[in-house]
Amino acid sequence: MNWQLNTDIDNIAWLHFDNEHNKVNILHSAAVKELDQILDELKNKNPKALVILSNKEASFCMGADIHEFADSTDLDQIKSHVISGQAVMQKLADLPFPTIALIHGFCLGGGLELALACRYRIAEDNALFALPEVRLGIQPAWGGSVRLPQTIHPLKALNMMLTGGMIKAYFAKKIGLVDAVIPKRQRLNAARYIALNGFKRSKHLGHRLADIALVRKCVAFFVRQQVLKKANPAHYPAPFQIIDNWQKYGAKGKEAYVAEVDSFMHLLAGSTAKNLIRLFLLQEQLKASGKKVEEKIKHVHVIGAGTMGGDIALWCMQKGLTVSLQDKNAQALSRVMAHAADNLIPDVNGDGIAHADLIIEAVFEDLAVKQAVFNDIKNKMKPNAIVASNTSSISLAEFPYPIVGIHFFNPVAKMQLVEVVHTDTLPEDIRNKALSFAHQIGKLPIKVKDCPGFLVNRSVAPYLLESARLIEEGMPIEQLDKIVTDFGMIMGPGILIDLVGLDICLAAVTNLGATAPKVLLDKIAHGYLGKKTGEGFYTYKNGKPVKMHTGTDLSISSEIVIERILLPMINECVACLGEGIVESTDEIDAGLIFGIGFAPFRGGPMQYAKDQGYEKIYEKLKSYQEKYGQRFVPKSGWDLFVKL
Ligand code: NAD
Repeated sequence: MNWQLNTDIDNIAWLHFDNEHNKVNILHSAAVKELDQILDELKNKNPKALVILSNKEASFCMGADIHEFADSTDLDQIKSHVISGQAVMQKLADLPFPTIALIHGFCLGGGLELALACRYRIAEDNALFALPEVRLGIQPAWGGSVRLPQTIHPLKALNMMLTGGMIKAYFAKKIGLVDAVIPKRQRLNAARYIALNGFKRSKHLGHRLADIALVRKCVAFFVRQQVLKKANPAHYPAPFQIIDNWQKYGAKGKEAYVAEVDSFMHLLAGSTAKNLIRLFLLQEQLKASGKKVEEKIKHVHVIGAGTMGGDIALWCMQKGLTVSLQDKNAQALSRVMAHAADNLIPDVNGDGIAHADLIIEAVFEDLAVKQAVFNDIKNKMKPNAIVASNTSSISLAEFPYPIVGIHFFNPVAKMQLVEVVHTDTLPEDIRNKALSFAHQIGKLPIKVKDCPGFLVNRSVAPYLLESARLIEEGMPIEQLDKIVTDFGMIMGPGILIDLVGLDICLAAVTNLGATAPKVLLDKIAHGYLGKKTGEGFYTYKNGKPVKMHTGTDLSISSEIVIERILLPMINECVACLGEGIVESTDEIDAGLIFGIGFAPFRGGPMQYAKDQGYEKIYEKLKSYQEKYGQRFVPKSGWDLFVKL
């Protein structure tokens, strides 16, 4: 049972959405089918009005059930699935009596499409609306892409669909998505009032203009240009499809509904949607892995107020924790304090150690310095406090006592990932508390076994080293970065090294036992440490890289550049899996996407290897080994993927 129907003395039908066994409402197939039957029943009964509301505490509806279509590639099957949902929404829209969606909390995706199929929408002041389909590589197809631009100004509708962003109740009222916003206590009376009296709306000028094909063509051109700045249609086709459909049909007529189904099924069957949906599901899984422990961390003490420590402290502060921040360098502390509010305590002497539930070390990447810090912590911390390190490349086994790795990524505010690293001697409850802390502060944790560089830096190091080789061979950094961002990475290797810091990269490379490239050593010798010093592979003005074309364009194809830098990364990922550093290719893909911005639509390095064919990648490694040398030797672990 998913719905409960009551009719009151005024002959108003109240349809309560309440998924059995679920904390939230999802419009899965069973719920849609049941709704279909109820709508038939209501059509016969012909009540005065219908009010649809949710019995769940925090939401109206979270949308369709993504699990039901995550794997489907059969176009006919997808089509019949989506058409049946679209038809139910149409049945609701065609009811001859007033229909009202009474919305509180989240009203997302298919949930908002349901609300849009009602004649009126009333929102409680805590309501939040979004059509987030585009973030999964698809588009609304239960009538939402047609009804939204009919309901609100078409430009605002396009904006909502193209960003997938969430809007709040009062803004929804302002743009005409809802007819009224009311406090919770007035919800039932407000719904009853509109049910009995209706509500008058005027048609926007924007709608009338959007009826003119030429106007739509101009607007679509302008919107497409904006989207092109952010997304490549070959990589992310969904937003462009949404614009095309609107331009062609102007959210009118049967054709518009046919078009949304048609584009939905092709988008869903494509690889971008498959990868983005898998990523979304992985994200949910990782979030859940941090939910086990009830006890929350209240006070965090961070040691080291540099690039990472400062940002970790600010992030924890924003998440409402009390944070003390220690640094021997008062200047480093004052840099961070300039961005801080009340609950960040500057702490030159480390007094906070005695009060903290969790102590995170983020000092220089130098074993001796870190060891001294850990010995100091041990003498001062309270019993049961957790000691963690943010080291990027030093094995935790080198530290004087069992310490959990909580490895953040740079920039902390943007990268969702943290690697929660454990050694064999680390008690499991400490690892679980670290996972739960990551969840508490809104990060995505992956469980990683200790080794130098853990999963992400260990796999990224050979990718960056090969990039440095290409630069040494004379490839301009911009050319390399462009090839890599065209491939779909969020940033190129030059920008990534500058962001992380050339000194930190050098330490990582050395700790991983590799030889540092000359280009890196030369820059460091000049004091060019990256963005933090204003100069690295790029020069920075006001925090932005200045383009400077140095070196000569190499006549080397983009394909070879990508293979040269990606093959060593994939090779190392395979080795990590072979050694049990992580347990699944899912964790590897999530780690590299959420940690360093591997092209999300490609689904991560292992998904990319799978799509290319593991055999092919393995054979390529062997041929590159012959051509370029031992750094391409396939590592142990390939037996998990190919017959050796
Ligand atoms: P950083 O050089 O910017 O900052 C280090 C800070 O530690 C400095 O402010 C220094 O004054 C302070 N410090 C040094 N010794 C200290 C001591 N004994 N007591 C108190 N403060 C001391 O370095 P960073 O980039 O923030 O890196 C810090 C740690 O985080 C390293 O272990 C690094 O590997 C790791 N990490 C760095 C990145 C990155 O992208 N930079 C990413 C993930 C992890």
